[in-house]
Amino acid sequence: MHELGIVVEVVKQVEELAKQNNVDKVIELTIEVGEVSGVIKEYFEDAFKWFIKKSEYMKECKLVYVPIQGISYCEDCKNTYPTTKYGKECPKCHSSHTYLVSGQEVLIKDIKVQNKEN
Ligand SMILES: [Zn+2]
Repeated sequence: MHELGIVVEVVKQVEELAKQNNVDKVIELTIEVGEVSGVIKEYFEDAFKWFIKKSEYMKECKLVYVPIQGISYCEDCKNTYPTTKYGKECPKCHSSHTYLVSGQEVLIKDIKVQNKEN
């Protein structure tokens, strides 16, 4: 499953940050996921819930999932358009000289933590 691999990577990064910053618990994680990244939200959430059970810092972490629209750019007419609606072909000039400018990424956007009391 594609989603699980991404979850593992994201959790690893967050745990690393938690360790470095002497954090007690990560209570909320916000991620931005491009709609053409191939990630399916339900699968991602399931994989996340399952995987954090084994995590030292993230056992009770809440996931905030923010979808990012896929945007393509046309080299011929400089138009930008929503990728999922029109695909590879520019809706303005019907050129196929287009490329994706956003929507493929999976980014850690925000982390809420609880610090150790000392
Ligand atoms: Zn165009």
